[in-house]
Amino acid sequence: MTSFADVSVLITGGTRGIGRALVKAFAERGAKVTFTGTNEAAAAEAAAESGAAEACHFVKADVSDPDSSKAAVDAAVAFGGGLDVVVNNAGITRDQLLLRMSEEEWDQVQDVNLKGTFLTTKSAARRLMKSKRGRLINITSVVGMTGNAGQANYAASKAGVIGFTKAVAKELAGRGVTANAVAPGYIATDMTAELPEGAAETLLAHIPLGRMGAVDDVAEVVVFLASEAAGYVTGQVIPVDGGMVM
Ligand code: NDP
Repeated sequence: MTSFADVSVLITGGTRGIGRALVKAFAERGAKVTFTGTNEAAAAEAAAESGAAEACHFVKADVSDPDSSKAAVDAAVAFGGGLDVVVNNAGITRDQLLLRMSEEEWDQVQDVNLKGTFLTTKSAARRLMKSKRGRLINITSVVGMTGNAGQANYAASKAGVIGFTKAVAKELAGRGVTANAVAPGYIATDMTAELPEGAAETLLAHIPLGRMGAVDDVAEVVVFLASEAAGYVTGQVIPVDGGMVM
């Protein structure tokens, strides 16, 4: 198991789903993990589940709020003695067909998924540049590459995350910071728990590996990108989707 001893990691949206698996994956490898979210009860569960609660520090913070996301970065720096790895994972859906989509549904999704990624990254950038192994990993989605009916807001936000990641990769490369995106396909979490009838079967039929992904499938790829071994990988989008998009 790659060691992350003395590595300071910030994970947005670490209370549930993929983010919770990330908290555990980094904590059990020895990292100092600061994670955010808005649900304190779920945060306590996430820290307990990690098996290394003393290595985890929860900050109640809304990624779409500039002060709140800056406070989360400051807390990660204080808890971890600096900041080496940032995973922009917090995300939401507000699915609706375009003709019925409200401006509010559009804005909420851009505010959390895209603006939230920008705000955390901007607050963290100087700290990542000071690290000897700065790593930015943004969680996008295969939907940001393919589009999906009923998710114009979400697809746009995740395509935005891809463009943002590549621009930041170019800006920060000179300071030794890598920036990559991970694009999950269909992963079993609260986000995918309530699909319309028949949708799950249709999705599974399009996954060559024939199963939904698990949160750990995504966490393992993020851990690799955060490791020293991935030091020459930057500006890339890595799908974790069972072959759904090739
Ligand atoms: P979940 O709905 O299971 O968890 C979402 C997490 O984001 C929670 O921890 C939640 O915290 C947090 N969050 C939501 N809004 C905010 C906010 N404003 N500020 C801070 N934290 C917030 O989602 P998943 O684990 O499934 O998704 C994680 C990421 O992976 C997202 O970016 C998603 O778009 C992406 N993804 C997921 C896929 C899937 O199939 N599940 C596929 C492709 C991409 P809290 O509840 O405490 O507020």
